[in-house]
Amino acid sequence: MRLILLAAPGAGKGTQAEKLSEHFGIPTISTGAILRHNIQEGTELGKIAKQYIDGGNLIPDDVMIQVMKDRLSQEDCKKGFILDGFPRTLTQAEALDASGIAIDAVLNLEVEDEAIVQRLSGRLECKECASTFHKEYRKPKVQGVCDNCGGELTTRADDKPETIKSRLSVYHTQTEPLLKHYVEKGILKSVKGQDAIEDTTKAVLAALED
Ligand code: ADP
Ligand code: ZN
Repeated sequence: MRLILLAAPGAGKGTQAEKLSEHFGIPTISTGAILRHNIQEGTELGKIAKQYIDGGNLIPDDVMIQVMKDRLSQEDCKKGFILDGFPRTLTQAEALDASGIAIDAVLNLEVEDEAIVQRLSGRLECKECASTFHKEYRKPKVQGVCDNCGGELTTRADDKPETIKSRLSVYHTQTEPLLKHYVEKGILKSVKGQDAIEDTTKAVLAALED
């Protein structure tokens, strides 16, 4: 199974990716997690990425395409993968098409902008394993501590109100056009992102089965 999750920031891609990874036994490749890890480690890529991410902008296509070429050629991707955060522009989608990697399905999680702003404003992320929680909608068992690994939970630097706005507008102008690209290829499946995580997962699995 090679799957792309395509949805606005905060629509629940990361959360659903976690569930689908478990269900299918394949890794999730999250561009956001890769980039934030590089920022934390202070790598060259991290230095480039930080300025773009903090402004709510996208990393340049050529950089992102190279990062993903390297990542997808690794051993753990051989039996399938879930892409969370790539492609995000038409140029990236075309590069993926040209790589010859056949994608089975592209999943679109539909969520209203208003709900997205609410979700992102209260989001918490584990510093260690990148699992996400929410101050109201998905509270961790112990405040400030990751349920999955015990790591410290923090608010992402790009989850500030001004940055959320620019990320949403970048999504509408740069990423939303990809929906049409994948409709034309006949592999787009759209599912309404619901409030309960489990309900969304059920709807997603049902969509993937037909
Ligand atoms: P979200 O989807 O919630 O915005 P991500 O963790 O997927 O968060 O991405 C965080 C940031 O990383 C994005 O706002 C963008 O700056 C950068 N980024 C992630 N994936 C890509 C990509 N494919 N192309 C360009 N920039 C990217
Ligand atoms: Zn964790």
